Amino acid sequence: PIDPNFETNRERVGEENGVTVWGPVDPPEQLGIHGTHVAVDYDICIADGACLEDCPVDVFTWVDTPGHPESEIKVEPTREDQCIDCMLCVDVCPVDAIDVDPG
Ligand code: SF4
Repeated sequence: PIDPNFETNRERVGEENGVTVWGPVDPPEQLGIHGTHVAVDYDICIADGACLEDCPVDVFTWVDTPGHPESEIKVEPTREDQCIDCMLCVDVCPVDAIDVDPG
């Protein structure tokens, strides 16, 4: 599962699609964690899509990740600022790739 303490255990390495990326990254095989309030571990995500379908405020957007071993698309939390902390995405993810920190 995603490390809920990623903000202390990892370093910010940049931004993609307006979303902070937490390393390490070594594309295309290793892509890190995307997002902060709503964080998706790209190296765990299998593109199940339940989070994107169930999110009541459309936080997630599909992005292409060709060459990644788990899946060649991922959900980017492009509208994480809209999150209402309902935790649906966390609950439905079959591989526990998402962490939402109501902070
Ligand atoms: Fe969307 Fe709820 Fe997940 Fe926030 S916690 S991203 S509102 S599904």
